[in-house]
Amino acid sequence: MTSPTSPMKQILLIATGGTIASKKTDQGLVPMITSEEILSYIPDAASMCQITALQLFNLDSTNMNYRHWLEISSCIEQHYRDYDGFVVTHGTDTMAYTAAALSYLIQNSRKPIVLTGSQRSLDVKESDARMNLLNALQYACDDRASGVHLVFDGKVILGTRAKKTRTKSFNAFNSLDFPEVAVIRDRRLIYYIEETVTPNALTFYHTLNPRVFVLRLIPGMSADIFPFLKERYDAVVIESFGVGGVPCYEDASFIDAIADWIASGKTLVMTTQVPHEGSDMEIYQVGHLIKEQYELMEAYDMTTEAIVAKLMWILGQTSDARTIRDWFYRPVQNDILS
Ligand code: ASP
Repeated sequence: MTSPTSPMKQILLIATGGTIASKKTDQGLVPMITSEEILSYIPDAASMCQITALQLFNLDSTNMNYRHWLEISSCIEQHYRDYDGFVVTHGTDTMAYTAAALSYLIQNSRKPIVLTGSQRSLDVKESDARMNLLNALQYACDDRASGVHLVFDGKVILGTRAKKTRTKSFNAFNSLDFPEVAVIRDRRLIYYIEETVTPNALTFYHTLNPRVFVLRLIPGMSADIFPFLKERYDAVVIESFGVGGVPCYEDASFIDAIADWIASGKTLVMTTQVPHEGSDMEIYQVGHLIKEQYELMEAYDMTTEAIVAKLMWILGQTSDARTIRDWFYRPVQNDILS
């Protein structure tokens, strides 16, 4: 927090929609509360910082895609010099994807970039919106804060580690396989991890390749989806079972499909559909076999949101297989344990 003598921090609040900005209509909740109106719900924030509000779009986050991630990043880049921190209000449904995408698009930021939203709209009585907004602003004003984080229900979570794990409760997000960076209780910000700011230069990236597909295995799944995917995607992430593997049917069709995918110069990442503790393909023959034989990558403890965003970022910069591999395994904001 700023000391009483230091000037007030300047925060840019970028509104993008979500439940936090929604009102009831005959067809369900629709985002329509503007960025200026959002500020009118939190008059107490004026004692904390000076806020400028900007409306980038007003969308249910179900309707957001990689182009919106690029727009948010470019908005932050455009205003980077003029503000001490950034708070992005966002729908909760795809907030973890946007948080991951911004973590790759904006690297080594000394200034905090904070995403928040709510499970209930600002204009309903029992809402978590005001608390989440005030917490996000408090974290964005803190001198120790840097990089991309999601602040929700009193938790400060790394942008590369967040996952929506509850559809209705206020406690909607978890930090997967990595501790929460801090908690905020009764206006007190308590750090569990003091994050060090890297000496590397702040870098904004401007391209993403959206041709990334996630294939969630189910028992007995046929491999005949691969020719379809091959025409449309450059990378496939296979969410397999347990620590990881692919089915070895009598006709080896799944393994043949993987061999063909990789031979055609496309990227394949193996991960697990189990939320915690990550993959380890060396353990069982069903994983070991393909890991040894093919140039695929394994995501270990990364979240699927981070894998998708990281691949879109990497494939947006290069198509060289070696570079793709190097960058995938190189940690960004603690997305993968090294
Ligand atoms: N459907 C909403 C959205 O993601 C849900 C929310 O914000 O909580 O925009």
